[in-house]
Amino acid sequence: PERGGGENWTGTGSTSDGHRVKVLANVGAATDATAAVASGAEGVGLFRTEFCYLAVADEPDVATQRAAYAEVLEPFAGKPVIVRTLDAGADKPLGFLDTGSEPNPALGVRGLRIAFDRPEVLDRQLEAIAGAARDSGAEVSVMAPMVATAEEAAWFAERARAAGIARAGVMVEVPAVALAAEELLREVDFVSIGTNDLAQYTFAADRQLGALAALNDPWQPALLRLIGTLGKAGVAADKPVGVCGEAAADPLLGRVLVGLGASSLSMVATAVPSVGSALAGTSLRNCERAAEAALAAPDAGRARAAARDALE
Ligand code: PEP
Ligand code: MG
Repeated sequence: PERGGGENWTGTGSTSDGHRVKVLANVGAATDATAAVASGAEGVGLFRTEFCYLAVADEPDVATQRAAYAEVLEPFAGKPVIVRTLDAGADKPLGFLDTGSEPNPALGVRGLRIAFDRPEVLDRQLEAIAGAARDSGAEVSVMAPMVATAEEAAWFAERARAAGIARAGVMVEVPAVALAAEELLREVDFVSIGTNDLAQYTFAADRQLGALAALNDPWQPALLRLIGTLGKAGVAADKPVGVCGEAAADPLLGRVLVGLGASSLSMVATAVPSVGSALAGTSLRNCERAAEAALAAPDAGRARAAARDALE
């Protein structure tokens, strides 16, 4: 039988047959970073930098940003941390990146799209992140939110490298860029799937509306299929494809994501031991079998049941 508790978490993510999968934490502030270290996370798969500035009216200068980021990075000296550049707009408005009123904010100028008009804000943030990486000794990568094309990803990666950041990736949250996985992976060092927004945009269902929660269920086979496309492309390109949405925090679904090709799972710190230990109790082949069963299911409920039958 497969295990689901946290009792066997060793701090190094892998399947029972030694297939390496990094088990990482999502953080938004220094207190989260402390909790993430305590959970045994191997690093950070998503640092939501906009959380530092939700109540801030003016753009903090480079030195102020650098100090704020370094405080979050310090507990992870020598460990991998993916810092996401500001994901402002829609559900996370920032005072200094106001894009005015839009009829459909989730489909509007948000995330990286803001930087196309105001690249100097992005460049200052990248400079601060590069400085904080040096101050902390963490192995820092950066990634951009809300990317729709491979061309946008290339634009971001070039700016990140110009700022002296060695590794640049993007989030996959928009179905169009998931469908362009091969071209996308040519432009960046890694991608990380944001299943919260990828579900929202795949099903055209606002993630904040409880009435549409069934469409935003990460077990939806169409969403799993899209994730599988990315996983395959990542294996073919030999580049990491992580998952950092809430889906990665479920020990059953996390193993399905690994079966679909995910090379890392990043989640709320409290979920790290249970996901890490579930993975340690399951072979890669069984993760793949569960993924195949879920993909073949006609709906989310039966996908979950099929994965459970395959693994438990
Ligand atoms: C996501 O969209 O899945 C994600 C991880 O980003 P956020 O939840 O911050 O939008
Ligand atoms: Mg998102």
